[in-house]
Amino acid sequence: MTGSTAILGSTGSIGTQAIEVAQMHGIRVTALAANTRVDELVKQARTLHPELLCIADESRYPALKEAAAGLGCRLLAGTDGLCEIAQHESTETLLNSVVGMVGLKPTLAAIAAKKPIALANKETLVAGGALVMDAAAQNGVPIYPVDSEHSAIFQCLQGNKRAQLKKIILTASGGPFFGKTKADLQHIAVEDALKHPNWSMGNKITIDSATLMNKGLEFIEARWLFGLTPDQIEIVVHRQSVLHSAVVYQDDSVIGQMGVPDMKIPIQYALCYPERLPCPTKPLSLTDYGTLTFAKPDYDTFDCLTACIRASELGGTAPVVANGANEAAVAAFLARKISFLRIGELVTGAIGALPVTPLTCYEDVVKADRAAREYVANAIAG
Ligand code: MG
Repeated sequence: MTGSTAILGSTGSIGTQAIEVAQMHGIRVTALAANTRVDELVKQARTLHPELLCIADESRYPALKEAAAGLGCRLLAGTDGLCEIAQHESTETLLNSVVGMVGLKPTLAAIAAKKPIALANKETLVAGGALVMDAAAQNGVPIYPVDSEHSAIFQCLQGNKRAQLKKIILTASGGPFFGKTKADLQHIAVEDALKHPNWSMGNKITIDSATLMNKGLEFIEARWLFGLTPDQIEIVVHRQSVLHSAVVYQDDSVIGQMGVPDMKIPIQYALCYPERLPCPTKPLSLTDYGTLTFAKPDYDTFDCLTACIRASELGGTAPVVANGANEAAVAAFLARKISFLRIGELVTGAIGALPVTPLTCYEDVVKADRAAREYVANAIAG
């Protein structure tokens, strides 16, 4: 169990819940970083008294300086600021819950400084999986997954022999458009896509859940975290989000982790590992649910999912391209520049159009990410 934590993405959904968990268990918060929300960040700092305070959007640094005057925190900005927090002597465990590829550099920085990571930034592993896992192994740095599915798998692996793992079952809620066809989804508005049945999350991940891109990213994330081949991952749609994922051993015993859909459970497990402490959440009542359902995903309608599995099989820069194209396409959808179905077309198109090359360093990731975003920008401009 960690004694203190530095939180990147502290004003987001994961960040605010992590603060709640930290306060409950007396885990000191030594640093806070937000993307753009200066006022909320400073409000958090007034309660938590961190040593370091960072705003990732550098244009907001003057606003942070003004708002945080007299707080006694060291003020930082930009990706450099995030990396400084990741490596700072006061950082015992880094909780990385920023959204998007921007999380990769701080993750690599923390690993280089031998800081354990509670990882909620899935794009880190999607884009830089090989680099991150190699560096973590070399430096002996543990990565505790915060994503609910990956936390579930991590929990199911405790006390068993990793070599006897046969495969994993990655559950998916199916999102708000489960059961719909492409024809049904032609005129989906931003507001429709932002309504998720089970989880309350930020805008980007909520859209990713609606397209099932989120499950595609998690497929790639799971590959890296648990050292699996694509054929060792079965995706199962489970509408109630009660079984958070499961593992299958060589004897065909299936061990799953269940709980109410509340991110505080995986956040707490990552910060308090290996302790199991009371959690500020509702207990699970199976009889309240009564029925749990399981179905195969619809790969035709949700082509983002198909594209991610394809990218995972292609390897090299392909997952970076899938992620970069998706980040750009989701931003365009949220800005009402493209339709909902266009997101999947652009991700699939980018993977088909851009060359797949090996990933050997951080610059390779940045280059492939940029090419994917350019592909999307050009395709939208027509
Ligand atoms: Mg998840």
